[in-house]
Amino acid sequence: MYDPLVHPFPDQQQSNPDSYWLKVSRSEPEDDGVVAEDLDADVAIIGGGYTGLSAALALGRDHGIKATVLEARSSAWGCSGRNGSFARISGGRVPWSTLVKTYGAEVARAYFGELRQGLDTVRALIADGSVDCDKQPDGVYKVATFASHAAALKREEELYNTVLGYSARYVDAAGVRGIHEGPESHGALYLPDGFSLDPLKFAQGVHHMARSHGARVHTNSPVVGWKTQGNVHHLATPGGTVRARRVIVATNGYTSSHLHSRLAARVLPVHSQIIVTAPMTQAQVDASLPSGSCMFDTRGLLFYYRRLPDNRMLFGGRSAISGADAAAPRHRQYLYEAMTRKFPALAGIAVENWWGGWVAVTRNSLPFCYQVPGLGDVFTAGGYAGSGVSFSIHLGTKLAMMAAGKPFETGATFLTREPERYPFASFIRLGQWMAYRWLHAKDAREARRAG
Ligand SMILES: Cc1cc2nc3c(=O)[nH]c(=O)nc-3n(C[C@H](O)[C@H](O)[C@H](O)COP(=O)(O)OP(=O)(O)OC[C@H]3O[C@@H](n4cnc5c(N)ncnc54)[C@H](O)[C@@H]3O)c2cc1C
Repeated sequence: MYDPLVHPFPDQQQSNPDSYWLKVSRSEPEDDGVVAEDLDADVAIIGGGYTGLSAALALGRDHGIKATVLEARSSAWGCSGRNGSFARISGGRVPWSTLVKTYGAEVARAYFGELRQGLDTVRALIADGSVDCDKQPDGVYKVATFASHAAALKREEELYNTVLGYSARYVDAAGVRGIHEGPESHGALYLPDGFSLDPLKFAQGVHHMARSHGARVHTNSPVVGWKTQGNVHHLATPGGTVRARRVIVATNGYTSSHLHSRLAARVLPVHSQIIVTAPMTQAQVDASLPSGSCMFDTRGLLFYYRRLPDNRMLFGGRSAISGADAAAPRHRQYLYEAMTRKFPALAGIAVENWWGGWVAVTRNSLPFCYQVPGLGDVFTAGGYAGSGVSFSIHLGTKLAMMAAGKPFETGATFLTREPERYPFASFIRLGQWMAYRWLHAKDAREARRAG
């Protein structure tokens, strides 16, 4: 499997994921094929996921610039076509209390405002483009796995309401019955905004809109070399070189260390995986997830899950450390055991799809959107840490603005800073392995305490 820390770029050898979204998808949208000759672009965009496609759309629609997207495989082949499908007010993975402590309440509020705009942008795109992507009603639950976690959720409710000015609501264990069943349900924080959708159909909708505003989307066209002469970037693909003064890098968790030395080791690619079961019986639905809302739990190594419209369970969580190990059946088993522990009524149910993808985690676990120092007109965004369905769309519009010569002014000051490199890049996976061990031990300790 493609591994950004090992391989130079995603190539033709990389198969498509065994994802539920591909199983239920329509045919691939029309694109502009491979780059077959040298060409000049007003703005070249590397990566055809939400970030890149949203930037391409915004360049055409808002700034009158026709972008050229270079995607290594097919449109939305990375995270955007294979994620857990939750569009939420989220980005990165820093708890709000830590964010307030580190950056202050004003910066936290500004960041919350950006995240909210991200979700609004997704809603607007779906409406404006009449994107048929199975959007579900709003509602997100963060569910207390252990009784001891309920107090933290109540504190979080307070912070949302008083510091962020947002109406989150704590629901006690009795109130959660009939929404989320099973032994790992001890209350929940209800967030009224956020919904699930079919992520691949949504990406294809954005792809279609970008092309209708003049963007070209070249698939099977990986950037395999990057040279800069004067202020012109020469992006080599197997079929021809694309020359552009302005470049947007939208490769996020799929960014290989080989793409450009300035970008190397700024994000840690972390593998996340999902299983989708066979359809549940009504009795299994009633005993597991009667609600169709987006759910995630409060473990250190958290699980996210939802009931799909055809009554299958989608269940996701952490996975292998390296691409070489990602297909080992024990990772699928790890999810299956977590799912049946949470929902004993699902014991024995068949798994019909199992896949994973690379999310991008920065050293401060927060996203970024900035002009790359020393490279001229090169802009990049990413680092959503597994929470980027709406925020990648939002930052795509900001990248377009920056490439059009307008600054991205935000009170969330950390967003526009270049993320720090991971030190000792070759050891980062060892650090990740140790972090997993520690979090796993912490979760196990709490489970033992809870009896
Ligand atoms: C299993 C999983 C579950 C997730 N669940 C959720 C969720 O429920 N909610 C949520 O908010 N977020 C979720 N995410 C994260 C979310 O999907 C991402 O944050 C978002 O899709 C990022 O979009 P992107 O366009 O920045 O990156 P991607 O969609 O990953 O796109 C990057 C693209 O760059 C291309 N590329 C890489 N190198 C090159 C090159 N050299 N030349 C050309 N192209 C190149 C890749 O092929 C890829 O298509 C999940 C991610 C995964 C993997």
